[in-house]
Amino acid sequence: MRIERTSDWSQYGKGVLVVVLCTVLAWLMFPHFALANLVMVYLLGVVIVAARCGRGPSIVATVLSVAAFDFFFVRPYLTFAVSDAEYLVTFTVMLAVGLVISTLTVRLRQQATVARSREQRVTALYAMSREFASTRGIKKVLCIAVQNISQTFDSQVVILLPNAVGRLQAWGNVTGWWGQEINERSLFAPDSHDQGVAQWVYDHGQLAGQGTDTLAGAKALYLPLIASRGTIGVIGVRPAQPQRFLWPEQLHLLETFASQTALALERVELATEAQRAHVHTETERMRSSLLGSVSHDLRTPLAVNKGTSSSLLKGRATLNPATQDEMLQTIYDEAERMNWLVGNLLDMTRIESGSVQVQKEWQPLEEVVGAALTRLESQLRNHPVTTNLPADLPLLTLDSVLIEQVLINLLENAATYTPAGSPIDLSASAARDAITVAIADRGPGIPSGDEDRIFEKFYRVASADSQRGVGLGLAICRGIVEAHGGRIRAENRPGGGAIFRFTLPLQRTPPLVAPESDAPTDQPMTANNPHH
Ligand code: ADP
Repeated sequence: MRIERTSDWSQYGKGVLVVVLCTVLAWLMFPHFALANLVMVYLLGVVIVAARCGRGPSIVATVLSVAAFDFFFVRPYLTFAVSDAEYLVTFTVMLAVGLVISTLTVRLRQQATVARSREQRVTALYAMSREFASTRGIKKVLCIAVQNISQTFDSQVVILLPNAVGRLQAWGNVTGWWGQEINERSLFAPDSHDQGVAQWVYDHGQLAGQGTDTLAGAKALYLPLIASRGTIGVIGVRPAQPQRFLWPEQLHLLETFASQTALALERVELATEAQRAHVHTETERMRSSLLGSVSHDLRTPLAVNKGTSSSLLKGRATLNPATQDEMLQTIYDEAERMNWLVGNLLDMTRIESGSVQVQKEWQPLEEVVGAALTRLESQLRNHPVTTNLPADLPLLTLDSVLIEQVLINLLENAATYTPAGSPIDLSASAARDAITVAIADRGPGIPSGDEDRIFEKFYRVASADSQRGVGLGLAICRGIVEAHGGRIRAENRPGGGAIFRFTLPLQRTPPLVAPESDAPTDQPMTANNPHH
């Protein structure tokens, strides 16, 4: 944005030149035209000077025009003396009209300049806020601010933000920090005196430095970055023309840029805080659900075992053998339950750390399904299970131990979370490049919005609290299915109930003879089966 300074001597020079040219023109017209027309030539000159050179030069041009008219064209010629008093009226009117014209023209010009600079200001601000709106990350915001402010004000810029103890530090004063977007010449590093001025600005929330009444000895102008929560930093601006910010319009514009920058920085800070808070609550939630589940699920069997074994010890002589057997069976079952839980926790840790080795072999799906159903015989006692596996299902490459675990977890859930007697359907279908296995029940289904979350670790639907569990079963399923290159998801079934589907990718050419897998495994995952 160009700053206009009417005090330039060259503008006065131009004003004088225009009067000289008018005089030459009037001299040429003089033999042929009446004097009134020559006055018009001078007035035209005054308009031109007012429009191009500003107020001072136009006043000088008006006075000079009257003088030149008198000197050259009013008898007696080539003197300022006037023979006819009626010319005094001409001079007065000419002077008055000249001054009015120059005042009006200058005002018009100023209005145009103000309108133009307002438009430029709005455009520059708009451009910057648009860039801010689509930005995340503090570095990007700082880059945009430095770029826009240094360009709009033809200045070098520094942004200082407080460290943990409230001391200001210049951001990115390491060469290369800003990357290619910023020309390092748009930046400057404040010396220790200026650093002190910036700190003052930060502490007081007022602007100071070059061109202001406060701490004017600084080499730059420093403005506080004021956001809704107070001062969040300071911006230093060192203009190429030191007087630039004496112009209130420019200072005001700079302040608006600073407050836009402050708001953008605050927005980034709030977003980071929200993210941190979110992670914190998630961690807290997981920790408390882990503690809750583990303490509940481990303590209950422990308490049962403790009670049962102590009764056994005390009542060995009196209890009949059948009761003793029953009690021993309870102890065994509870110990298995604990083993299963600890096994699940370990499996999950291994899946998460990526140390699970999938041992893939060519297998027919029916075999894995059969093995899972056999293992769950006692849990599925109260549920009629229908299996629907097409006879022509292609062979699959899978780790049978792990996929059996997936089926066990899904079938167990289908039995646990549904009323006794409700049916469970297990089906499979083959598409071009994957087999889909579906396990459907007629239970309460999954609350809408929880379809994805139930696959998260330790996530349990609130209504499931009455059932034992830690919320790991489905997370383990997802880990295993994804390790096979498949996907798993849950949805509600039309007519009531939940349906869990997972896919297993098909490989094109199954071998004629299924090879024995003898690949060494680092840490094969073992499926836990409490009912084995
Ligand atoms: P857990 O069974 O140990 O709670 P899961 O990861 O196996 O953990 O299951 C997570 C949650 O998903 C369960 O708490 C339950 O609320 C819900 N869920 C799982 N399977 C079903 C189902 N078939 N019908 C309704 N809800 C289910």
